[in-house]
Amino acid sequence: MPLVLAGRPTAGGRGRPPRHLADLPLAERRAVVAGLGQPPFRASQLSRHFFGRYTDQADEMSDLPRSARGPLAQALLPRLLTAERELSCDGGTTRKTLWRTFDGALVESVLMRYPDRVTMCVSSQAGCGMACPFCATGQAGLTRNLSTAEIVAQVVAGARLLADGEVPGGPGRVSNVVFMGMGEPLANYASVLGAVRRLTEPVPEGMGISQRSVTVSTVGLVPAIARLAAERLSVTLAVSLHAPDDELRDTLVPVNRRWKVPEVLAAAWDYAAATGRRVSIEYALIRDINDQAWRADLLGSLLAGRLAHVNLIPLNPTPGSKWTASRPAAQREFVRRLEAHGVPVTVRDTRGREIDGACGQLAASASARPPAPASR
Ligand code: SAH
Repeated sequence: MPLVLAGRPTAGGRGRPPRHLADLPLAERRAVVAGLGQPPFRASQLSRHFFGRYTDQADEMSDLPRSARGPLAQALLPRLLTAERELSCDGGTTRKTLWRTFDGALVESVLMRYPDRVTMCVSSQAGCGMACPFCATGQAGLTRNLSTAEIVAQVVAGARLLADGEVPGGPGRVSNVVFMGMGEPLANYASVLGAVRRLTEPVPEGMGISQRSVTVSTVGLVPAIARLAAERLSVTLAVSLHAPDDELRDTLVPVNRRWKVPEVLAAAWDYAAATGRRVSIEYALIRDINDQAWRADLLGSLLAGRLAHVNLIPLNPTPGSKWTASRPAAQREFVRRLEAHGVPVTVRDTRGREIDGACGQLAASASARPPAPASR
């Protein structure tokens, strides 16, 4: 579900986003408020508006004195993301937004509503530096890291849509967040960790989503996985493996040349041991590339008996790619062989393909078109 800028970097992305309250712990928000000559409790009021009511509109904050609204909002609630395009499918329950950052970079987020949950898939970087050849974001290179608040703002925007009843199924809440949009989350460690904290701390410190409902997905940056394990959070780790052998993985996930399959898996098992959380092993099935029966057996033998779950993703071909998804029979056999090793496996649903939601070419197509009138 990588969200993508196929082929070219975005125009913008050379700046440092303005400070936003979601970048700061509540204590630091209080200090900023005090610096403006306001009583520190106004930091909690602003935070409740943002994290509890999903608004950054100062004129809606009737519990703040009129004269304070402007200066407080200006100091702590700058508009970070502007919706450039919105697309939906699945009867409106899958919605993808292309965002323009303050400096013109493009990033994407996707809201997916299921009967029992709502998942927001967020971007952690504009572009990505990991260069995986099957992933369109990887082709474009890295534009810049997103700030903590730029990540959180994607989730808050989805929460606002749900609270306003704009997603079919009645008013709802964001229950899950997956860092599976554009970017390599662990290459933007500080901002991503800040976002995890903001998303999971209770209102007014943060948004109050359960840590267990947050998934951080990585290509396998071993030192950063170890660092994340040491944070003792209950977030789920997803490792984008895509091949059980170094020879193939070196080509599919180039950072494998630095950290090999055994090291990546050892880091994953240490993460599972430290957190008690089952690690999700992501495996995009690519026809005749990584979907052979022997690779299923090798993967099964590496994962057997581990606290792991395999998430098979039918490849979403990127424009111009010579690769495509596996044949149904090969996919079935892959599943069967993993199960024969006692490894839990699911095939990921491919929601949102018709809106490029699974591997968003939205940003790329948008940059080839004149910009649409921006909305909130
Ligand atoms: N950089 C992180 C998170 C973003 S990608 C990571 O690699 O884990 C989210 C998932 O989508 C990853 O497992 C990624 O390998 C996978 N993916 C990328 N391109 C894909 C494609 N074209 N089809 C299917 N899955 C893809």
